[in-house]
Amino acid sequence: MKKLLIISLMLFTYAYSSAQEQQRTAPATPQPVDPNRMTPGMTEIWDPEVKIITPGAKDSDAPSDAIILFNGSDISSEWADNKGNPSKWIVQDGSLISVRGAGVIKSKRKFSNFQLHIEWKTPSEVTGESQGRGNSGVFLQELYEVQVLDSYNNRTYRHGQAGSLYKQHAPLVNNSRKPGEWQSYDIIYTAPTFNNDTTTYYTPPRVTVLHNGVLIQNNVSLRGPTEYIGIPEYFIKKHGPASLVLQDHGNPVAYKNIWIREL
Ligand code: MG
Repeated sequence: MKKLLIISLMLFTYAYSSAQEQQRTAPATPQPVDPNRMTPGMTEIWDPEVKIITPGAKDSDAPSDAIILFNGSDISSEWADNKGNPSKWIVQDGSLISVRGAGVIKSKRKFSNFQLHIEWKTPSEVTGESQGRGNSGVFLQELYEVQVLDSYNNRTYRHGQAGSLYKQHAPLVNNSRKPGEWQSYDIIYTAPTFNNDTTTYYTPPRVTVLHNGVLIQNNVSLRGPTEYIGIPEYFIKKHGPASLVLQDHGNPVAYKNIWIREL
């Protein structure tokens, strides 16, 4: 009987002290604040201060936190061919020009999420039609093509024209300049995440594109890697950070002022 009394006392002491402990550590229940008694400072957050960078002189110029991928002269420090050898693309008058048969040019750095600025120009001498006119492309993470094409008075399938996410999303409008004129893309890219099976996305890649300053892709989701033939989702394979790739499609398309900000 005495033993039972002692055990009961111990249990009571434990229960009492843990209740006390809970009372001390339990988060305070937020109390509603009367809006009439609030001051402006109660909703101001000051720290940490937002990182300060220096903007370019023009909106198309790289800000101070950008990585310059092409500055008008040197290609070998940031770019190589598909096998990692020096690229056969040429530099002329400050621009980087695709050479038929040279294959793609690939950034040596690999990226995940980013903001990319890139300017491009299709040949002023118009030859070919549809997909055969001024075709190149900006491949995000080596897999997802933002189409580069002379789409000025040049009909092709709608999700294959300039600014399309090739064969997946047509641009919202065709804001193309004439062949031989410089154009720009500003691309915001969110890399995909993967399910454990490695062949399906947990979150798909997402892309926003401004073409010559105009929004043409508004945070669209991709179904899978860009495919010329076949259904994109059949070709999904888990990947991490990857290069930026510019396409050689046989037309001498020029690029300049390429910079990227990792996000
Ligand atoms: Mg292309």
